[in-house]
Amino acid sequence: MKAEYTSVLIIYTGGTIGMIENTETGALENFNFEQLQRHVPELKKLDFNIESYQFDPPRDSSDMDPEAWAELVRIIYDNYNDYDGFVILHGTDTMAYTASALSFMLENLNKPVILTGSQLPIGVLRTDGKENLMTSLEIAAAKYKNKPLVPEVCIFFENHLMRGNRTTKINAENFNAFRSYNYPALAGVGIHIKYELSLIHHCTNEKPLTPHLALDTNVVVLKLFPGIQESVISAILAIPGLKAVVLETYGSGNAPRKVWLTNLLIEANERGIVIVNITQCSAGTVEMDRYETGRQLLDAGILSGYDSTTESAVTKLMFLLGHRLPPNEVRQMMKISIAGEITVN
Ligand code: ASP
Repeated sequence: MKAEYTSVLIIYTGGTIGMIENTETGALENFNFEQLQRHVPELKKLDFNIESYQFDPPRDSSDMDPEAWAELVRIIYDNYNDYDGFVILHGTDTMAYTASALSFMLENLNKPVILTGSQLPIGVLRTDGKENLMTSLEIAAAKYKNKPLVPEVCIFFENHLMRGNRTTKINAENFNAFRSYNYPALAGVGIHIKYELSLIHHCTNEKPLTPHLALDTNVVVLKLFPGIQESVISAILAIPGLKAVVLETYGSGNAPRKVWLTNLLIEANERGIVIVNITQCSAGTVEMDRYETGRQLLDAGILSGYDSTTESAVTKLMFLLGHRLPPNEVRQMMKISIAGEITVN
């Protein structure tokens, strides 16, 4: 008998998990949620209620954008009281951006929002989609003492449940497509789902879910490389309307010691452009006072992005700028962990 009191809403946005091969062209094309269900008859065996909502038309995740994130937030908000958890089926390519954005846009979230997808379409024999979907549903429905076990925005992929705003897509071939290098997995999945309860964030206030829909996209990611030209950096920093830069530096937050570079950064910073330093390394954190090559950035007023992923830094800036905060308030908020996205001591 189905435990009617537990209900999960699946929101199908698109991506490989719901694709089928066009027999003529060989290209992967989207198909609808009913077809998806036909390929996963196991869904009927779950002892809780499942309903679905579908993006029309479904989107490859390369076409996801802040409007689509706002649509997801609206769907979750409108259905919040009717469901115990939400599973978002999403393409893998930009899933980490969506998960990061949602973690900021869903303030006071107290229910699981689990994003998943797959590397192989669900209709294909060796698909990873079934496993990812079934386990995500189980996690979204999981409770402890009648409270949701994982009330966070997460990505579940190939045996790992990860905090969404800590994830990055690292593999376009293997099933282990995502990693969370700077925060341990919230659960490992084998025969059992082993939750790491002490790592899971619980919203401690009793405030209702507060949706945030406005994002400001006047941000840029600037990745340094040896030989980068002054003209490139000065052109980027002169982009009309630019409000924030995610500066991807070397190692623990280091950059070439070029006077023109420091001067350009100081000048942009003084114009009110928020510049956040994150490392190009997959793991580890920015410590600008470790080397002279980092210290110069600190002296130029560049902010530490700590151990943030690019996806999280970009979406957090969009979120803060969407509130029309002045640069100094954005800078203050970048030093604070809003949704567990950075490790600050
Ligand atoms: N291109 C697809 C997408 O991101 C890839 C996938 O789903 O894995 O939508």
